[in-house]
Order: sequence, then C-alpha cells, then structure tokens
Amino acid sequence: MVSRPADYCPHCGTALERITFDGRNRSHCPTCERVVWHNPVPCAGVAVVDRSQPEPAVLCVERAVPPGVGEWTIPGGHLEVGEKPEVGAARELEEETGVSVDPDALEILDATALPPRNGKHVTMVYYVADRADATGEPMAGSDAADARFWTSSEFTDSSEEFRPVHEERFRAAIAHFE
Ligand SMILES: [Zn+2]
Repeated sequence: MVSRPADYCPHCGTALERITFDGRNRSHCPTCERVVWHNPVPCAGVAVVDRSQPEPAVLCVERAVPPGVGEWTIPGGHLEVGEKPEVGAARELEEETGVSVDPDALEILDATALPPRNGKHVTMVYYVADRADATGEPMAGSDAADARFWTSSEFTDSSEEFRPVHEERFRAAIAHFE
C-alpha cells in the first residue's frame, strides 16, 4: 500500500502499468503480476471544546508545515500501525497542543473521506472532548505555529483562515454540545 499513486512497484521496482480490475483503474506490476493497491490513509483528530464562557471555544492549531502553512485546523494526524483511532487522536492533540485527554473519554463526532490533496486520500475519524475533561494549557507543539481556543465570532472577526473542511469540523464540535 502507498499513500500516493505509485509509478514503480514497491516490491520489485518495475514500472507499473494501469489496468482495470474490480471495475476500477488500478496500478499493476507486470513482474509480480499483482495490483499495487492505493488505499486512503487513516487519520484521527479531536476537537476540545471550552464551554466555561457564554460562547463556546474550540482548541485549534495553526499549521507550521506544508501543505497549507498558516491555515488553522482541528488537531489531528496520521495513525500509527496498530494504534486505535481514539488513542491516535489523543496523542496528536498532546503533540500539537500540549493538552491531554483520556482516549476513553472521547466521543466520536464523524468519520469521513476528505477531498484528496495531491493524490493523497485520507479517511478521517474525529472526536470531540469537553475542555473540563482535558488537562494542560495550549502551547504550540510539533507541526504547529500556534495553538489556542477560538470562539466562532473571534475567528470570524480575525483575518485568520481555516483549512478547507476544518471550519465545518469546528462548527460541528460546537454544535455537538448545544
Ligand atoms: Zn513488482
């Protein structure tokens, strides 16, 4: 499996050909005589919602690495081999923001296929957690330029921008507790 369409066989290095198999156009190695599957990459994230103020706020991170440097997102990232989605979501949250949550306390918000970027397809599972159940103060960690809670109106009044699809996730996290 590769995360982007391969040009060469990852097993033997032969240039791949395209064939139709199971009704889809796929890469095939003529030497190994097998399909080189192109599968989506599983990712997980968590939106931590602070409900202590009249207007709820969601913990977001500003991307420091391509693609989309400067865009705000809900913390998340790739799952490791053998890692449960909720454990990966909590790990990514802590790595990116310094805020910790118990994976068992996470509630699933959605599971979806994201629009591909440069041929990379992601299947995203994302969770929501109450700030009251989290520990630590937000501090930008790996891959993040900034980490902070935003209310919807603060974000709208700022000149900041969400990464496409993350705004929807931001609003869904707020709506989850309403
Ligand atoms: Zn091969």
